[in-house]
Amino acid sequence: MKAHSGQVAVFVRFRPTPNFAHSLIECLPDGKTVNIYYRKDSRRLHNSKNGQLSPLSFQVEGVLQNVSQEEVYSRVCQQVVQGALDGYNGTVMCFGQTGAGKTYTITGSTGSYKQRGIIPRALQEVFQEVVKRTEHSFSVHLSYLEIYNESLVDLLSPVQGSSQQFSRGMVVMEEPGKGVFIRGLSLHPVHREEDALNLLFEGEMNRIIGSHAMNRNSSRSHCIFTVHIESRSRTLSDAKYVTSKLNLVDLAGSERLGKTGSEGQIVKEATYINKSLSFLEQAILALADSRREHVPFRQTKLTHALKDSLGGNCNTVFVANIYGEAAQIEETLSTLRFASRMKCVRIDPAVNEHTDPALQIKKLQKEVQMLKEELSICNTLMKRPTTTYEPLSEAQLAEINNQVERYLDGSLKEISITSIGQVHAVFAQFKLAVQEQKQKVKAQLCQTYNLVEKDQSAKTSTIKEWDARGTNEDAEASMFGASAQSQKQHPNLTKEKPIKSRDKPSQNKRQGEGIPFSRKQMESASKSKLNSVQTPERQQVTQPEPDTECSDTQEPQQPGNEPFYVDLLYVARFPPSKADAFEDFKLGKGSKINCILKENKAVLLERHGLLRQLAEEVNTVKREIDCTVATIQQHTAVQETQGQFLDIEGELLLQLRDLKALYRQRREALYSIKAEVNYCQHLVDQCRVRLLSEFETWYKNTFLLPEEELEMTKDKTLAQEENNQQCLEQLENNPLSDRSSAESFYSARCRTLKRRNTRVPSCVTPVQTNPPAGSGQGRLSPVPPVK
Ligand code: ADP
Ligand code: MG
Repeated sequence: MKAHSGQVAVFVRFRPTPNFAHSLIECLPDGKTVNIYYRKDSRRLHNSKNGQLSPLSFQVEGVLQNVSQEEVYSRVCQQVVQGALDGYNGTVMCFGQTGAGKTYTITGSTGSYKQRGIIPRALQEVFQEVVKRTEHSFSVHLSYLEIYNESLVDLLSPVQGSSQQFSRGMVVMEEPGKGVFIRGLSLHPVHREEDALNLLFEGEMNRIIGSHAMNRNSSRSHCIFTVHIESRSRTLSDAKYVTSKLNLVDLAGSERLGKTGSEGQIVKEATYINKSLSFLEQAILALADSRREHVPFRQTKLTHALKDSLGGNCNTVFVANIYGEAAQIEETLSTLRFASRMKCVRIDPAVNEHTDPALQIKKLQKEVQMLKEELSICNTLMKRPTTTYEPLSEAQLAEINNQVERYLDGSLKEISITSIGQVHAVFAQFKLAVQEQKQKVKAQLCQTYNLVEKDQSAKTSTIKEWDARGTNEDAEASMFGASAQSQKQHPNLTKEKPIKSRDKPSQNKRQGEGIPFSRKQMESASKSKLNSVQTPERQQVTQPEPDTECSDTQEPQQPGNEPFYVDLLYVARFPPSKADAFEDFKLGKGSKINCILKENKAVLLERHGLLRQLAEEVNTVKREIDCTVATIQQHTAVQETQGQFLDIEGELLLQLRDLKALYRQRREALYSIKAEVNYCQHLVDQCRVRLLSEFETWYKNTFLLPEEELEMTKDKTLAQEENNQQCLEQLENNPLSDRSSAESFYSARCRTLKRRNTRVPSCVTPVQTNPPAGSGQGRLSPVPPVK
């Protein structure tokens, strides 16, 4: 860390005077302590160290009394300048009452080389270092800002000595990565010490001229001379570079207004000064307090402009200039108090490092070039083909596409890797193929799903109805491991249903049989199929597996063949799950038997309800009989013990007789209903078995082809497709309106290839609500309600 780390370094510098108040001010030999023997409420100034008054002690970094300008520079500023050259921001600030020597310390005498102040010495050091530090290239810019009555003045502005010097557009700005800066303040590049000094003197001249022209006192303004340094390494071709700002600040006089008896313009000046110094003090207090999160920098131009030059990551040095005469003792005390507060501000200097994007690109380009060369050498040594880095040409891409197609259809064993670019292109081609295939399947399934969904909703309402009546509709579905409920929970199961089957078109003609498939749907599917064959990528997806023994297929497929062929193979290889297919079967081919089953179940359900009701009634009558018997027994016992005869007994006996008759009647009815329930159950079971066995046959014939049959189908299809090539080409070129006929063509072909026989037996008996007499299940007589 450069310069005074940890705390702001505070120095006290006394202006030489023959009337130094030795009795009030004591500088201890340690060179770091100033004692003041004065109290504000003391009436007499001679109430000094001889008068046994305890001193106010101020500890500082250094007390500069009767020291040369050179020593002041080396003790106060040198480290800050060195830090600035290394990339640390630095600030040297002089504070004190007018005439205490602030300007003398910061600028010095412009007429005497020996008495030159901190700024010219700092400039000298900067340029000496620039010459010395050959491993770095530096660029130095200067700016000189004056803040007078809260107005910003550019002392190095090209237009000087007039009111235009007050640049109206000058604003204190703050930008991330750039920090605080003054928009509109001129920055002057300098390459030599002499140029820099010229600018300094010019600025000083402008300050004096401005003072006269604008009727302002130069010591009533704050001046910030800034050296902007940028350093880049010459040795490392690094994109990193460092910047720093070295602020040399000459603050306005801090004397109190009342003391000078000022009026008019001076009062105004003093008000501004007091205000800005007061805000400076507030900012410093906030900076010194680690618990404070907010520092009020924006309250005045001075604090805002110095925001990143006070404490923080900036090497900050504070010089308290003191007029050591007794008459100024109060100002001296005030200045020292301000200095002691400044001392509490913590600093944590940090280098302002940046990355140059243009250089970063250059550096990376160079690195890439080197790597290419290295790879080229490696390729030569390994006798590998040279790697190219240019984008692949159209011809190369076409070749890669061709390879991928052949790889997918099995005619190419493997794609040899030649470069990373080629690998990317191959993957891109695979992706395209997968996406297109996905799109196609999705479109087909979506159409199917929409149609099925309508039926599904009808079915769902039926299920709800059944549920409400307490039946278990899912019995059949659950046999295939998926219930209707699970389908509700996983709609994708339904969506993924590959409904396509070989007998679909033929079944489509008869409503309520087979898998529902509308004409519109067929047309739409047909369109997508016909469109799809126009892209070569389709071919590779739709061609059979490479291991399929079929010499005919070695020739490219005709576009028109594909859709039909894809469906056959697709359905044969990826049959739908049985649970899904069963749902479709119930709606189509098996709808009749399913309907009978449903009716039977409904009757069974009703009989079940009746059975429960009768059982309850029988039990109720039984309980009443038991109760009546118990009452009669009680009466009999009373009669025996007391010899009394109760009239009520005869009545009870009559009631008991009626109850027994009712009990017998209900029991008869119960047996009858029980037999009927058994009969219904038997029919429902029979129906269910029939439905399932028919479904099994249908499923096998629809979705599962024996291997030989599959091969035969393919061969036949291909042979026939070859013959129809011309026709299909015409179909492909047909307007969409004619495509339905194309679809009919495919449907007819599909029918010829079917190998199944799915007949619905007509011998299933629906449960008769009232079984015929003589069948053993005679019509039930209505059951009279229990009274
Ligand atoms: P300020 O800027 O604080 O108002 P100046 O720097 O203008 O005060 O100083 C006022 C006068 O005192 C100047 O003439 C200056 O030369 C002189 N002076 C101040 N400090 C010293 C010093 N340490 N040695 C010699 N002369 C000084
Ligand atoms: Mg001054």
